[in-house]
Amino acid sequence: TAALSDVDPEIAAAVDAELGRQRGTLEMIASENFAPWSVLQAQGSVLTNKYAEGYPGRRYYGGCEHVDVVERLAIERVIALFGADHANVQPHSGAQANAAAMHALLEPGDTILGLDLAHGGHLTHGMRLNFSGRLYNVVAYHVREADHRVDMDEVERLAREHRPKLILAGWSAYPRQLDFAEFRRIADEVGAYLMVDMAHFAGLVAAGLHPNPVPYADVVTTTTHKTLGGPRGGVVLCRQDYAKKINSAVFPGQQGGPLEHVIAAKAVSFRIAASEEFAERQRRTLAGARQLAERLTAPDAAEAGVRVLTGGTDVHLVLVDLRESELDGKQAEDRLHEVGITVNRNAVPFDPRPPMVTSGLRIGTPALATRGFGAEEFAEVSDVIAAALRPDADLPGLRARVERLAEKHPLYPQL
Ligand code: PLP
Repeated sequence: TAALSDVDPEIAAAVDAELGRQRGTLEMIASENFAPWSVLQAQGSVLTNKYAEGYPGRRYYGGCEHVDVVERLAIERVIALFGADHANVQPHSGAQANAAAMHALLEPGDTILGLDLAHGGHLTHGMRLNFSGRLYNVVAYHVREADHRVDMDEVERLAREHRPKLILAGWSAYPRQLDFAEFRRIADEVGAYLMVDMAHFAGLVAAGLHPNPVPYADVVTTTTHKTLGGPRGGVVLCRQDYAKKINSAVFPGQQGGPLEHVIAAKAVSFRIAASEEFAERQRRTLAGARQLAERLTAPDAAEAGVRVLTGGTDVHLVLVDLRESELDGKQAEDRLHEVGITVNRNAVPFDPRPPMVTSGLRIGTPALATRGFGAEEFAEVSDVIAAALRPDADLPGLRARVERLAEKHPLYPQL
C-alpha cells in the first residue's frame, strides 16, 4: 500500500521533474506526443500483473478471461480504424513490429530494399548494426539530390537489378507522402512483398488526412505513440493470407508474454483515434507544420542560411536544412533547448557533417497540437524558432515567449 514517493523518493522525484519539463517546455520532437490521461490510466493498471502468452481464446496461461476482452477490443478497433483484414497488437515497440513482419515473410539472407537511414529511413529498414542489416541483404534507395523527394526511378531500377523479396516503404524523417500505388506496381513487377511502416504518419491516416497504405501493402506496421498519440508500442496489420505467419512471428517468434496493460492503453487510443476530436487535432497538426514550413522559408530565415527540405511539408514535420547556416544541427538543437523548445538534430541527405553533429533539424507539431495549439500559437512558436536560428537571437526574450505559450495550454492539469 506504500506510495511511490515513500518507497522510492529518487524515482518519484525524477518522474515529477519530467512532468515539470513536459509542462514547462514546448515538445516538438516529431515522434513524440502526450498520451491522454485515460491512456496513462489503462497503462498504469493491474493488467501489468498478468501473463497471457498466446492469443485471445488460445492462451498458455489460466485467468485470461479479462485480458482476452481487452486484446479483442484492441484488435477490432485497430482493424476498423485502418480497414485491415488482420491485426496483431502485441509488439512491444515499432522495432519489434518490424522485426516480426520481416521474420514472418523472409529467411535470413533474403534481400530487402528500404530507404537509406541517412535519407530518412529507420534503423530497422536495413541499418548495418540493426537486426535488419545483420539478418538480411540490404539494398537502399534514396531521395534525389535535386528535390529531396524519394527517387521512384531508382526504386524501380534497384528492384529490377536486385530482385528483393521485400520492398519497404516508410520513413522517420521525410516531409512528403509516398506513392504507395507505385511501390505496389514495382513490388508486383519483381515479385516482392510490399511492407509499409507508417509509424510516423498513422495518426494522419486514421484521420483521413494521408493516403492509407493498407489497401496496397501485404503488411503494414506502426507504432502507437507518435501521431497516433497512444502508449509506446507497435502493431502489425496484414492481409488475411499472412495472419497466421504474422501471429507466429510475434509470439513465439519474437516475444514472450504480451504487455496487456499496454494493449489496453492501445485499445483506448484506437477508440480516441476514431473520434472527430482526434481528426480535428490531426488537422491542427498538419496546419501547424505547414505554418512552420512557411515561416522558415521567409526571407529573414533564408538570409540566416535556413532552408526547408523539399520547400514545405505534407505531414506533421518539417526538415530544416542548415548546410548554409552558421549553426550546425547540434548548435541549433542546443539553442532551441535554451529557449525551451525540444527538437532533434537530424542528418539531411548528402550531409557533409558527421552524424553526431549533422546539418539539420527535425521539427514536429503532433505534441503541441495535442496540447491544444491552433493557428495563433503555431504562428508564435514558428516565429520564435525562426528568431532563435538567427545569429542575433535574443534567447532570454524568446524563452519568455515560450513560457507564455506553455502557460496558455496547461498539460495534465489532473496530475
Ligand atoms: N519505424 C519508424 C518509421 C520509426 O520512425 C520508428 C521510431 O522512431 C520505429 C519504427 C521504431 O519504433 P520504436 O522506437 O517503438 O521501436
